[in-house]
Amino acid sequence: MLTEPRNKVVGELERFDERDNVQARNTLEPGSADYMEFYARHPEWEDRDAETRELSGRIAGHPLDVLFFRQLVGGVVQRGREDQVNGPVAPQKFELSPERASEKIKGFARLLGANLVRIGPLNPAFVYTHIGKTWHDPARRYGAPIMLTHQHAISIAVSINPELIKNGPVLSMASEVMRVNNKLAMISTTLAGYIRSLGYPARAHILSNYQVLCIPIAIEAGMGELGRHGNMLTKEFGSSLKLTTVTTDLPLAHDRPVDIGADEFCRDCKICAERCPSKAISFGEKKAVHGVEKWAISGSACFKVSNETGMDCGICIASCPWTKPRTAFHRMATALAARKKKAGWWMSRAEKLIYGNFTPQPGPTCFEKPEPIWKKYRPFRNEH
Ligand code: SF4
Ligand code: SF4
Repeated sequence: MLTEPRNKVVGELERFDERDNVQARNTLEPGSADYMEFYARHPEWEDRDAETRELSGRIAGHPLDVLFFRQLVGGVVQRGREDQVNGPVAPQKFELSPERASEKIKGFARLLGANLVRIGPLNPAFVYTHIGKTWHDPARRYGAPIMLTHQHAISIAVSINPELIKNGPVLSMASEVMRVNNKLAMISTTLAGYIRSLGYPARAHILSNYQVLCIPIAIEAGMGELGRHGNMLTKEFGSSLKLTTVTTDLPLAHDRPVDIGADEFCRDCKICAERCPSKAISFGEKKAVHGVEKWAISGSACFKVSNETGMDCGICIASCPWTKPRTAFHRMATALAARKKKAGWWMSRAEKLIYGNFTPQPGPTCFEKPEPIWKKYRPFRNEH
């Protein structure tokens, strides 16, 4: 158990502007005032973003299955409206000790279907500075400053079925991810509503409406560690999970950061970097990114895969040795890797030997047989 945050701070922490997010950049209309203002500040991204914007971006797959996916996206967008993630606070406050409040919050989140729940401080460095993605919600103005001063952050994870992640970049995998996002949206908006009914401010942060960076917040709360692929690794589910955060001023007892051995494991393993079709994942050492030491990821290279193939990729998560069904063997292997660093080295060698290159597994039969669309992907030149 660590006492210091596992996000290693190596400089001044800089808040991230959501307008810099590659998906937010992709929605900018060439010639519009927002476009001109943004690329006047970031001329270094304009050519590459234009290249990505020209790609279709349309969801690829059989029309019958695209409709599965659209239903699920609709649910997340609906839950992400500003009046759903936030709302009025009850005038009467219930008084609870921080320990009892945390116990109730965690219990309620699990009752709603959460697999992992941790509570930590809301580090202001992990709050976005400005809104970049509006999802056509008139209550959210592009470029509006974000003023979120809550003290505490509840991190909630729901696991993605590892069998479906292994289908590769096809609609059965994407629909499973969106199913999980729907569940998270339900859990966090319900939990935030409950906290407001206790007389304290609370806001849910979900896929279509984040004001915070969920991954570093969950790491500070002790849910896992950052992996080379830029996602959080957990002992329980590897990276085969999705996150939501509820921020609040309800006084809560905090969990501590953890050392599960992922840092040492990722230094040697590099399987995700080898298998990433866009070369978005670094083979090198960690560097300072916004003041935190981490393996740098090229968001634009990763996003180009989805825009070119019409599908999110997820190969880094599917091929990670930590992404395995929760069998007794896998639980033992990850527990061993956390305690004995050399065991991690053997775990990654065994993964390469047994599974070789990433081979997509067939999805459920309710989906039509997919085309291997991701094979047509061509990386940017000179990536890493
Ligand atoms: S999702 Fe795919 S393209 Fe993006 S980093 Fe992972 S492996 Fe690379
Ligand atoms: S594949 Fe290997 S290097 Fe990449 S995140 Fe997983 S353990 Fe780390």
